[in-house]
Amino acid sequence: RFAYVNGRYLPHDDAAVHIEDRGFQFADGVYEVVTIVGGRFADLEGHLARLDRSLRELRMPWPVKPTSLRLIMRELAARNGVRDGMVYVQVTRGVAPRDFRFPADTAPTLVLTCRRSRFQTARQLAEGVSVITIPDIRWLRRDIKTVGLLAQSLGKQKAAEAGAYEAWQVDPDGTVTEGCSSNAWIVTAEGTLVTRPASNLILNGITRLSLLRIARDLGIPVEERPFTVAEAHAAREALMSSAGSFALPVTRIDGKPVGEGRPGPLTLRLRAAYLADVGAPDPV
Ligand code: PMP
Repeated sequence: RFAYVNGRYLPHDDAAVHIEDRGFQFADGVYEVVTIVGGRFADLEGHLARLDRSLRELRMPWPVKPTSLRLIMRELAARNGVRDGMVYVQVTRGVAPRDFRFPADTAPTLVLTCRRSRFQTARQLAEGVSVITIPDIRWLRRDIKTVGLLAQSLGKQKAAEAGAYEAWQVDPDGTVTEGCSSNAWIVTAEGTLVTRPASNLILNGITRLSLLRIARDLGIPVEERPFTVAEAHAAREALMSSAGSFALPVTRIDGKPVGEGRPGPLTLRLRAAYLADVGAPDPV
């Protein structure tokens, strides 16, 4: 297994960065996870566009040209022989003596890893997954995909301990912001697909953007607006989206079934349409 660090492909276990890398000291870095399905990168353009935006927001330069990054991603996937899995791309501000202020001229650190993945189990897809709800304790720039993921890690751990797949984070006003590593959606009793609008309060998922486009193309009524936990409990369907989960049915929220407690038709239709758009069969 190989990883990529600043210009070199290294055995995964030997790949390392310096202890004063600002990613390590300050979580001063951004990342992307791009899924490979059937040998194809899903939504690659979207992920590169969001990486560009994250870098810009943190005033970091591209570590290599975008065209070079594409080549590195393909090369790493090929070297690892991955046809179903993901490439992880991380850029930090680089190595410098520990100081909160930005270093004057430090080269960014570029790290890529790649691994095989089955994404979900057949059972998770057939039955849907459960989520718990937790307070959203994150900062107010959730639109930047930074490696500062402690709140999400705590949330996912809590979900795992509760036997749930994901935790939906809830702002003080009672509205669901998003999952710890996914966007949150519901289908109302009227059949409208609802997800929170992009703002500083959520990460604008690339899968989210594709699903919105696909839903509109299919003529499905869509509303981008916040929804509450109570609304989610009363919904006909619930689902989550991310690069690795595509569109995944959520059939229990805080232990209570959503609708009839089975994956909903609209969710499954969106998942199929998304994977058709990627050009690969469902890997699950
Ligand atoms: N929200 C958060 C907080 C996430 O970490 C992720 C996954 N990176 C998403 C949403 C989904 O984004 P995407 O569809 O681009 O994977």
